[in-house]
Amino acid sequence: CGIIGIIGKDSVSERILEGLKRLEYRGYDSAGIATLVNGDIERRRAEGKLINLTNRLAESPLAGDVGIGHTRWATHGVPTENNAHPHTDGKVAVVHNGIIENYQDLKAELSGKGRAFATETDTEVVVHLVSDFLDQGKSPRDAVAATLHRIEGAFALVIMIAGQHDVIFGARRGTPLAVGLGEGEMYLGSDAMALSHLTNKLIYLEEGDWVEMTREHVQVRDENDVEVTRETKLSAVSG
Ligand code: GLU
Repeated sequence: CGIIGIIGKDSVSERILEGLKRLEYRGYDSAGIATLVNGDIERRRAEGKLINLTNRLAESPLAGDVGIGHTRWATHGVPTENNAHPHTDGKVAVVHNGIIENYQDLKAELSGKGRAFATETDTEVVVHLVSDFLDQGKSPRDAVAATLHRIEGAFALVIMIAGQHDVIFGARRGTPLAVGLGEGEMYLGSDAMALSHLTNKLIYLEEGDWVEMTREHVQVRDENDVEVTRETKLSAVSG
């Protein structure tokens, strides 16, 4: 029920965990973090409270300066470690809050193309859609745009791609998502609280917006993929 993403200057997993703690108040049944390590997607997930994920990370730390994190409130698929986000096929990693309404149709279509699903979640179709568009030769940006045109429902998404160390994507439809502006790094979070340990400079995405972020630059596009400018606001929540 909470999301955070960081494209950072240095290690992100502890800062993502801290963001997830700040989102605990929303309630959740499992949690997870994925980062890019030498271009590969690595992840740790755990059922139950964040202490379980914290312990998992203590046993087996996650390096990487790009990463995404999630606290899940299960809607589709029981609250197990296997159904916990981030979801990945090894090429694309996704965290998602909300519901992909047309996931059954998409799952049937993608399974028909030989894509193997590993979870019971609605979210996993997003992983396979982006991956499929990448396999068709689309750029990361175009693959994300094409995916957003295929999915229906209410969602906030953060997407990270193997081998793509310099970009992460976010999208908002029906579920809030904020961009946080840093110094040589950028953030995404469900709300100002999730990012209050990182920045108080925020851009609240509007309905249908999606965003492509590097460490230096944020490009917001609207639901028609037209580049738009959204106001930067100073959050009252910080520290
Ligand atoms: N529908 C997704 C799931 O069940 C996301 C739930 C959430 O918002 O945390 O995994």
